[in-house]
Amino acid sequence: MKAWEKNIRKVVPYVPGEQPKKANIIKLNTNENPYPPAPGVVEALKNIDTDLLRRYPDPAASKLVNAIAEFHGLDSSQVFVGVGSDDVLAMAFLTCFNSKKPILFPDITYSFYDVWADLLRIPYEKQPLDEQFRINGKDYQKENGGIVFPNPNAPTGVLKPLEEIEEIIQNNLDVIVIVDEAYIDFGGTSALPLLEKYDNLLIAQTFSKSRSMAGMRVGYLLGNPELIRYINDCKYSFNSYTMNQTAIALGVEAIRDRAYFEECTQKIIDTREWAKKEFASLGFSFEDSMSNFVFVTHKDYPAAEIFEALREADIYVRHFKSPERISNYLRITIGTREEMETLFAFLKQYMSK
Ligand code: PMP
Repeated sequence: MKAWEKNIRKVVPYVPGEQPKKANIIKLNTNENPYPPAPGVVEALKNIDTDLLRRYPDPAASKLVNAIAEFHGLDSSQVFVGVGSDDVLAMAFLTCFNSKKPILFPDITYSFYDVWADLLRIPYEKQPLDEQFRINGKDYQKENGGIVFPNPNAPTGVLKPLEEIEEIIQNNLDVIVIVDEAYIDFGGTSALPLLEKYDNLLIAQTFSKSRSMAGMRVGYLLGNPELIRYINDCKYSFNSYTMNQTAIALGVEAIRDRAYFEECTQKIIDTREWAKKEFASLGFSFEDSMSNFVFVTHKDYPAAEIFEALREADIYVRHFKSPERISNYLRITIGTREEMETLFAFLKQYMSK
């Protein structure tokens, strides 16, 4: 080891899903939206004023903040935007989780949480999901330095009812509770109405899933103005210009078009409900998913083998080798009806051999 290596911050990074370079694949591995962004986004991209690219963007991304606030019926002071929800969640961890007590999150959840905690030297304790992959509220009644979980959870897709979310917040008024709602638009109930009642609640949402903008990187936090101000202070101490001109302009168009957003999310919900029946008829088992993916297992066919066979056929899904408990599961994003039909045709043939 070189002498300077002892001063290096060593981390084990998060591993994102594969982005294959191949054309003409069916990509159901990273929970992207199969439909294009709103027509206004496509139009705005054509009309980007390239002269503006000489200039720094608005550090407060005010147009986008205002549009998000308007969509949710909130004040702009309650919104913080960033480069995808990964960016805003990392900023929330940095700002809100500064206790010597451990933060709490589920043992099976978004695998970025422990990476940020390790990076930022935040102690944490994972709480086990129950047999049906549910978060048990009792596990979140112990002393802690903060709480974070997705609702619906990932990669399970299991939704926690709003009353149970409120119970967790109520039991933890002395710390910040972050509810990561990356997948809330596919049939879940947002914790948004609780913002009025609880100043320790922070909600994260993203344009990556329900607004077809994963490639543009836009995410946001909703919380009380004081908390949002603290998060902004940290952001301005790190990088003033997180949001580029184009992301701000296109983000505004994406959130304005409520009708298109509702149409696309409904199509995905309909395809998901149909896909659940197809998976069940092929003998897969799964908990009820309220997100844009399903998390399935099969008692006769190992997940790792199905994963490889699908990959050979240019159908990409996600397989997590760890933790052990989910290593025989596949997380399959809901694509278009046609993409899902191709998936099921392949699976039927694979299982008839
Ligand atoms: N939270 C959860 C639970 C996720 O699955 C993802 C997607 N990887 C994110 C946050 C981050 O998404 P993005 O940075 O694209 O907004």
